[in-house]
Amino acid sequence: MDYLHLEDTRCKLCNHEEESHEHLFFQCRFSSQVWRRITGHAKIFWPPLAWGSLIDWIANKYHNNKLVHQMIGPLLLAAAVYHLWQERNRRVFHNNPRTIHLLCEDIYQQIRIRVSNHQRRHEIPEQTPAIWGVRLRGRRVVAFVS
Ligand SMILES: [Zn+2]
Repeated sequence: MDYLHLEDTRCKLCNHEEESHEHLFFQCRFSSQVWRRITGHAKIFWPPLAWGSLIDWIANKYHNNKLVHQMIGPLLLAAAVYHLWQERNRRVFHNNPRTIHLLCEDIYQQIRIRVSNHQRRHEIPEQTPAIWGVRLRGRRVVAFVS
């Protein structure tokens, strides 16, 4: 029973552990499933590091890489952090939770838009449109397929 607690400090994503940034974005069982799913989808491997170390690792790994498939790592990190935070607020303020599937779809949509808006089409590797469900014909985006 939680009657005596003035403030509920449990994580709103898993409703189980104490909320902190480290927990919310990485250790949480909900967030972990999101990370597993999106990095699996993107065929990206990130080492299991704490928040600050992961940011450094990614910044170092992708430093100076302008090719679109190499931009996807940092984009994916930013999109996932943004959407996990949105999901947390959605649950805190609107009591309106979404599924992991829908949250991942929003993340994918953000990546699709970035891939399809990429100006230098020749930098987009052959496999990238298929991974992200973007159909390119010549140098134009003709459809999102999901
Ligand atoms: Zn949690």
